Amino acid sequence: MKHCAIVGINWGDEGKGRMVDLLTRDYDVVVRYQGGGNAGHTVVNERGKFALHLLPSGIFRDGVVNILGNGVALDPENLWKEMQDVAAQGVALTPENLKISERASLLMPWHRDLDALEEQRLADKKYGSTKQGIAPFYSDKYQKKTVLAGELFHPEALRAHLRDLMEWKDLTLTRVYGAAPYAMETLEAWLADYADKIKPYVCDTSAFLRQAQKEDKNILFEAQLGALRDLDFGIYPYTTSSNTTAAYAPIGAGLPSLRLTDVVGVVKAYSTCVGEGPFVCEMFGEEAERLREAGAEYGAKTGRPRRVGPIDLVATRYGVEVQGATVLALTKLDVLGYMEKIPVCARYRVNGTETDRFPFPTELETAEPVIEYMPGWGCDLSGVRRWADLPAAAQAYVRRIEEAVGCPIGYVSVGPERDSIILR
Ligand code: GDP
Repeated sequence: MKHCAIVGINWGDEGKGRMVDLLTRDYDVVVRYQGGGNAGHTVVNERGKFALHLLPSGIFRDGVVNILGNGVALDPENLWKEMQDVAAQGVALTPENLKISERASLLMPWHRDLDALEEQRLADKKYGSTKQGIAPFYSDKYQKKTVLAGELFHPEALRAHLRDLMEWKDLTLTRVYGAAPYAMETLEAWLADYADKIKPYVCDTSAFLRQAQKEDKNILFEAQLGALRDLDFGIYPYTTSSNTTAAYAPIGAGLPSLRLTDVVGVVKAYSTCVGEGPFVCEMFGEEAERLREAGAEYGAKTGRPRRVGPIDLVATRYGVEVQGATVLALTKLDVLGYMEKIPVCARYRVNGTETDRFPFPTELETAEPVIEYMPGWGCDLSGVRRWADLPAAAQAYVRRIEEAVGCPIGYVSVGPERDSIILR
């Protein structure tokens, strides 16, 4: 029996989607436990190429039950759109293979509006939000001012609840931001429409998971973003508004008493970062452009060019520690094939002193990278499937990373397809 979380070690976009898609063959249940439509997982398999935002990546495997746990930001509008998209590509979604927690809170249209209004107010001090409403959503959840999916089964009580929430929300919209208030009828119609669509999937997923646990089922917990975006342990305030760490999986999934047996940490062979905030190892100019092009580093959700840099061993070791990773998957090693020598951010220089400690966010603003170079392998790795067939320079690069971060690399990914993987 395995209870495994698959998590990002860095800033997100490490290639978790392709790793979850690969690992789901060994699992009976896949659960998304935090975040919402603000990040995208890209999965390429025999059915095509899919950009998933909310749906668990197990939906492509027959017999896998997929769950959206209580910890996710359940945006019914985006979820429904995504469900339609994958259905159009031939993936059957039913209440048997997709279940939504009755305790998941709904992300409402005003969350997206408030997200955009706040970024606008912040102007050049903006956080770089994806404007999917995530920060206002989680703020409201902690203020106990959200609608739970289970309330959709109680329309009368829900109407009264919605009216109370809107009275309060309209105050913020109109008096803080000078925006227009919502018309109650519009919101009621919006909610009724999506309620009809998603209600068949809503149930007591915690009870389902407890039963699965009793039956010794293998359960995979799928995280979004990475350790450096975790609300409590990431580069605050340039974090997301939920916990992206493996430790949150039992709570956000709905099995609070669970102890994970494995944590697979996904690390990219170089660094990328979307949005604002300190990014110590950042490359600029032509060097950055070349890497961005080679790795196709543009946001899955927004299309924004990602900031890029060499692998950051300081941040990666911190990410491994925060996640409690038991094994790592190194992705996109193939992308570095064009480099003659491979830069590595080995340490930071903070206030004139070299350190391998990951600093407090304020200190991070002034940290500088200490770059070292390793020999490149100068060839295409995308066809390699065995560790022994990797060029010596590529093996040395992988070993250098695992030694520096203190965790074995069990998987090396050399392409986006399901089988483009080296198992060690
Ligand atoms: P996630 O949010 O962590 O799942 O990351 P993304 O969905 O942004 O995935 C990264 C992108 O890289 C996707 O387009 C993947 O198809 C692609 N990808 C994943 N692994 C590899 C790899 O090993 N090599 C290459 N070339 N592309 C990969």
